[in-house]
Amino acid sequence: MTNADAVAPTDPTGAGGRRRPDFSGLDRLGLNLHAILPLSAMDRAWRGKPATRVERGHWRQVVVVGNGGPSLWRTLEQRGITGNDPIDRFSVQAVSDWLASQAPSARSLLLYPAQSGIDLQTLGRLAGWHQPSPLMLGMHPGWGSWFGYRVVMLTETDWVEDVRAAGTSACEGCASRPCVTACPAGAVGTGLDLARCIAHRLSPDSPCATDCLARLVCPAGAEHRYCEAQRKHSYGESLRAIAHWRERAD
Ligand code: SF4
Ligand code: SF4
Repeated sequence: MTNADAVAPTDPTGAGGRRRPDFSGLDRLGLNLHAILPLSAMDRAWRGKPATRVERGHWRQVVVVGNGGPSLWRTLEQRGITGNDPIDRFSVQAVSDWLASQAPSARSLLLYPAQSGIDLQTLGRLAGWHQPSPLMLGMHPGWGSWFGYRVVMLTETDWVEDVRAAGTSACEGCASRPCVTACPAGAVGTGLDLARCIAHRLSPDSPCATDCLARLVCPAGAEHRYCEAQRKHSYGESLRAIAHWRERAD
C-alpha cells in the first residue's frame, strides 16, 4: 500500500482550484505518508500552554509527513547517515527541500521534531492514520504499528487537504490478541501498563531493552515490520530517555 492510497483526495484534480503537491520525491526516500491539514487541526493538537503556542499569523496549513515500513531506514543505511538523531535530521532536511521545490515562495515553520507539546496522534487521527491499540501505539490501516511521524510544519500553502476518518481498528477484529500473551511483563491488557513495561525494560538482561515482543507478534501490517537494526536504534533511544528520566526522578 502506498501513502497515496492512504490519503488520496476524493477530487484528484484539486478542490476549488487547489492543487495537490507532488509527493513522489519524498516517497522515494521512504517518507511515504503525507497529509495536508487545515490550520484548525492545531486547535486540537496543541498540548502546550497557550503561551508556548505559535501565533497563527500568516500560516494556512499543517503539513504532516511520516514513514510507513522500513524504507526510510534503508535510505539512511544506503547513504551512510549515522550520528545523533539521524532519522530526524534526515527527515527535516528532506521535507524542507521538498517544500522548497513544491512551493518556493511559501514560508514554513517547523513544529515537530523541533518543539514539544504537539499531539501527533491527534494529527494522525485527522489524517486517517491513527487508531488506538493496547500497545499505546497508533494503528495505521495499512502499515499497522510500523509507521512514524517524522515532520510537522506550518506552511503558507493552499493545497488540497486530506482530512479523513481512519476506519475501524485492526485490534477490533483481532480475537486472539497475541500481543497480550507475548508481553513477558504482563503489561499489555485492554491498554498498556506503562509503569510495568518500563520496569521490565530497565531490568537486567531484559529482552525488551531494544525491542517489544508484543509488537513483534502483532499481525497488523506485519509485512511492513521495521528491520532489527531500526528497532534496535529506536528502542535503544527510548530506553536511554527512560533511564535518564528515572535517574532525575530518583
Ligand atoms: S495483536 Fe491484535 S490486539 Fe494486539 S495490537 Fe495487534 S491487532 Fe491489536
Ligand atoms: S516492551 Fe516488553 S514489557 Fe513493554 S509492552 Fe513490549 S513486550 Fe511488554
